[in-house]
Amino acid sequence: MNTLITLAPDADAGSLARRLAADGLWTTALRDAAGRVQALAVVPPSPPVDRARLADLPGVLAVLDAAAGHPRVDAAAGATVAVGTTSIGPGAAPVLIAGPCSVESEATAFGAAERAAAAGATVLRGGAFKPRTSPYAFQGAGAEGLAWLRAAADAHGLALVTEVLSERDVGLVAEAADLLQIGSRNMQNFALLKAAGGAGRPLLIKRGFSATLEEWLMAAEHALAAGAPGVILCERGVRGFDDVTRNLLDLSTVALVAHIHRLPVIVDPSHATGRRDLVAPLAAAARAVGAHGVMVETHPDPTQARSDAPQALTRAELAAVAAVVLEGDR
Ligand code: PEP
Ligand code: MN
Repeated sequence: MNTLITLAPDADAGSLARRLAADGLWTTALRDAAGRVQALAVVPPSPPVDRARLADLPGVLAVLDAAAGHPRVDAAAGATVAVGTTSIGPGAAPVLIAGPCSVESEATAFGAAERAAAAGATVLRGGAFKPRTSPYAFQGAGAEGLAWLRAAADAHGLALVTEVLSERDVGLVAEAADLLQIGSRNMQNFALLKAAGGAGRPLLIKRGFSATLEEWLMAAEHALAAGAPGVILCERGVRGFDDVTRNLLDLSTVALVAHIHRLPVIVDPSHATGRRDLVAPLAAAARAVGAHGVMVETHPDPTQARSDAPQALTRAELAAVAAVVLEGDR
C-alpha cells in the first residue's frame, strides 16, 4: 500500500471502488469501529496512481502518501486539536493540564479543579479508572469518579481529560470527558485504540515506556483510522537504566515530534520524575524543546494522595510550574 484515499462523509465507497477497479486500481476498504468505510487503500498489483486525478473524483476527501505507514498522522502535521474550548498543538498558546493522579472523592476533584483553574490551567486531569501495577493498590473510583471530575471541571470552566482503561468503559468515559487518555501501558492495545478512536472524542496518547517513536505514531494512526477527531501525543518518560528518577524523560523525541513531525505534543514531568521538586525544571525544559503543553499531578492534600503522593504538587509548586509553562506563546 502506498496510497490512501480518504472519503468524504457522504461518499459512496462501493461505487468509487468500482470506478477505480475499472481503471485497474485494486483497493481495500478501511473501516472505523462502527463499520463505516473511512478510506480506500490502493493495494498491489495496481499501477502507479495519478494523485491529482483521484483527488477530483466525487466522494474523495484527500489522497495521501502512505509510504511512511502513517498517512493520517502525517496529514495532521501543523494542525491543532480542539479540547473543549482550548486548542492544543502547533501555533496555539501553551496549555497547562493539572489535577490529581486519581480522584478519591468529590472533595479531591473540586479541590484540585479549583487549584488548577487558579493556576491558569485550562484542562483538568484525573484518573477514575487507574492502571496500577498491584491489584491491591487503589484502582480508582470508577463511574462515580467520572461524575465528580465532570462536575468539578464544569464548576471551574475547565475541559476534562481522563484515562480510559478498557474497551468496556469507552462509552462511559467519552460521555464525561473532552479528551480520552490512553495510558502508557495501553499504548499498543489496538482494540482499545480502535474503540476509543471511534468514540467521537480526541485522544491523548501517552508514550509506552519502551515504545519507539514509530510505534507511538502508529498508535496515533490507529486512533485516527478509527475516526478520532484528533490526537495529542504525551511523553511521560521511558524506562532508563537508573532508578534515581522514576523514568527518563526523552526530550529529544519531543523536539522531533514538535519541530519535524509538527504534531501536537505535551510532556508529563510528574510521571517522568516521580518527584515534586523536579516537576517545574522539567516543565521548563519541555517548553524549551517545543512541547505545546505540560500535564502535571496536583492534589488538595498532597501527602494524603492515594496514588503518586511523592509527585503531587502543592498550590505553590503548581503556580511555579504555571509560570514556566504559560509565559510566552509558541
Ligand atoms: C496517568 O497519567 O494517570 C498515568 C497513569 O500515567 P502513565 O500512563 O503515563 O503511567
Ligand atoms: Mn499518577
